[in-house]
Amino acid sequence: MKILVTAGPTYERIDPVRFIGNYSTGKMGFAIARACADAGHEVVLVAGPVQLTVCHPNIRRIDVESAGDMYQAVMDNFGTVDGAVLCAAVADFTPITVADRKIKRLSDNLIVELRPTQDIAAAVGACKRPDQFTVGFALETDDEESHALDKMRRKNFDFIVLNSLRMANTCFGYDTNQVEILKASGEKKTYPLKSKELVAWDILAEIENIVKPIIR
Ligand code: C5P
Repeated sequence: MKILVTAGPTYERIDPVRFIGNYSTGKMGFAIARACADAGHEVVLVAGPVQLTVCHPNIRRIDVESAGDMYQAVMDNFGTVDGAVLCAAVADFTPITVADRKIKRLSDNLIVELRPTQDIAAAVGACKRPDQFTVGFALETDDEESHALDKMRRKNFDFIVLNSLRMANTCFGYDTNQVEILKASGEKKTYPLKSKELVAWDILAEIENIVKPIIR
């Protein structure tokens, strides 16, 4: 298969030296890209600003900075892939204007007006062909499962990976993760805490499960 993976945070510029970002390190997305590549799939890895390197003959990496750049890179490539794993922590809002000079300290409050970014997952979900799959992630602080299920339907994912914030050593920055996979059919699988590399193989196994009937 040819699989598109988004990974890492996005940076939304405020002025030439400042941005709004988040704590995503890209580890989970890079682990998914590597697992897919090691399994023999071709990968297009669309990466936000991360400190990670990857060198694999099956991985083509496209580096982007903002949610807008990531949207463009994904839309440019989605038509050529069998499916996408949307793992990036994309900013939901971006400054309406970017100052062309460094904003100076003032005694008054600074108000930066933000507008919503495009939802990349929803955009690919809306244009995916019957022979394509999309997989998304959810990180919730309350009513985890119902929010994740709602997100899966809204974004038209084949399945969604729910990251737990209740357990220690999961999510942002850690090398381990504890996930649940929720499917549109209502099926649910709960996995123990494990390395992000092993979580990536679990996710790939689920992708291969849902893709088999499509290929047949
Ligand atoms: O709505 P929320 O951001 O919680 O949804 C998370 C899922 O949607 C993740 O799979 C994330 O990669 C994707 N997403 C996206 N583009 C956005 C926001 C989220 O692809 N602008």
